[in-house]
Amino acid sequence: MKRGGRHETCKVCGKDWNVSLQLILPEHGYICPHCRGLYNKEVHGEKSENKRSGARRRKPRRTSGSRD
Ligand SMILES: [Zn+2]
Repeated sequence: MKRGGRHETCKVCGKDWNVSLQLILPEHGYICPHCRGLYNKEVHGEKSENKRSGARRRKPRRTSGSRD
């Protein structure tokens, strides 16, 4: 008995993945989410190592000059 869904073969890793029936297959073929993540990183050459100071604290600026 099949549940709602279908299988597509990822063209990168060649594995079968469960995809939703509503998924529209791109022209270049199906790429699983896992490989898409890796693929995108390679393409953009993202530097994930030097991501230390990513937490910027922003204090909401109030106009603290007007006392009534
Ligand atoms: Zn894959």
